[in-house]
Amino acid sequence: MSETATLVRLEDTYARAVPELSLQWRAAPTPAPRLTLLNDELADELGLDPDSLHTPTGLEFLLGHESGGVATVAQVYAGHQFGGYSPRLGDGRALLLGELVDPARHRHDLHLKGSGRTPFARGGDGKAVLGPMLREYLMGEAMHALGIPTTRALAVATTGESVMRDRGYQPGAVLCRVADSHLRVGTFQYAAATGDADLLRRLADYAITRHHPQAAGADNPYLDLLDRVAAAQAELVAAWMQVGFIHGVMNTDNMAISGQTIDYGPCAFMDAYDPTTVFSSIDHGGRYAYGNQPGIAQWNLARFAETLLPLIDADPQAAIEPATEVLNSFARRYDEAAARGMRAKLGLVETDRDLVSDVLGLLREQRVDLTTFFRALAAGTAAELFADPAPFEEWARRREAALPADRGAVTAAMNRLNPVYIPRNHRVEEALDAATAGDLGPFHRLLEAVRAPYEPRREFADLADPAPSGAPPHVTFCGT
Ligand code: AMP
Ligand code: MG
Repeated sequence: MSETATLVRLEDTYARAVPELSLQWRAAPTPAPRLTLLNDELADELGLDPDSLHTPTGLEFLLGHESGGVATVAQVYAGHQFGGYSPRLGDGRALLLGELVDPARHRHDLHLKGSGRTPFARGGDGKAVLGPMLREYLMGEAMHALGIPTTRALAVATTGESVMRDRGYQPGAVLCRVADSHLRVGTFQYAAATGDADLLRRLADYAITRHHPQAAGADNPYLDLLDRVAAAQAELVAAWMQVGFIHGVMNTDNMAISGQTIDYGPCAFMDAYDPTTVFSSIDHGGRYAYGNQPGIAQWNLARFAETLLPLIDADPQAAIEPATEVLNSFARRYDEAAARGMRAKLGLVETDRDLVSDVLGLLREQRVDLTTFFRALAAGTAAELFADPAPFEEWARRREAALPADRGAVTAAMNRLNPVYIPRNHRVEEALDAATAGDLGPFHRLLEAVRAPYEPRREFADLADPAPSGAPPHVTFCGT
């Protein structure tokens, strides 16, 4: 397998820039590994040869056993989990393989999940199981197809081990994912808590170079970094809200500085519109409910801002005022992004906040499926979704009056923007159960549907339907 000597060449700029924030560590051996899925399309985009990744040495690379030329490392970070601060989290069962520079000169992290216990594992076993790793694969592809910034899975492999979880023994698995980086708010929290000002500055400079290079030219680059991260998060969370996505664990260690969606655990897409919706079995207080996500993003950004204060100004008091101003701008930015998005989803050209909030109120009162609604609105059949259609019909007359004259163009634009297919919970569970039992058919079918979410296909008609009414409320588990 000599071709694999140069299979993938990785770099390690992160480990070199901030060596204090990672630890060299090797992936655990895997007794009988098998490649379950390879994302050929993503491999191509990255400039990797999918055929060579399908070879046994390719599989060894995807499991972290074949070097990409740099040492694999576990990254350390801290984080607020459900509001409580943990001073040392870190990659307990994950490793950074290294950084890949693609043909378009973009730098990506290649990262493993489920590659064995590291010194950051605390109580965990360092392992991952097939269902949740396929879930991350599916969710990432769906989000990507919806145009939402996200990490993506390159591959899932089973290890040949059986791993104990709540539901009994499960096939052990390793996910190889691709991210703009794994810099998190929690990475900054960890660096700030060390009290090492030089480390914090190197981390911030690294983040600027890698993600927000324009900040380097600003009067105050660190304030500008905060501003750009806040802007990216406002856009990201608004995009989530448009499609009914609930992340489920918006801890500060799960918020990426790059603005990508990261760490798909107990996430889910909402069916009937209700801002109080929570799916995660561990989110007892509903902290990360659908409707709380913008506020939580702002809370997380406040934690990020706190870490940057000493860089923004040597005098902490002088730093607080401009940082607070940036934080306060989040609500406005989020509102603008949300209004822009909802306006387009409704086919409108001008923002009409009452029209938007009134229809959301109706969807909520009558428990209408969010995804189905927008397609039906474009098709002129939305009234059928309401048990009591009268208030909707009155709203629809107001909307009519606000629509541009070319209705054909409105319908086409709405259908380019409003998905037919999202990974619906009952379908996801069905597909993962089948996959865990050895049948990948339903998973591939669902994946194909969500990869072209705007294109109705007769053969996938069932995948567009919400869960049958009367089905028990869906619960997602932390995905480990
Ligand atoms: P997450 O909820 O996936 O964002 O993970 C939070 C923290 O728990 C991270 O530090 C993970 O590395 C760690 N963790 C989660 N599952 C495991 C596991 N099975 N073994 C070791 N560490 C884990
Ligand atoms: Mg995490």
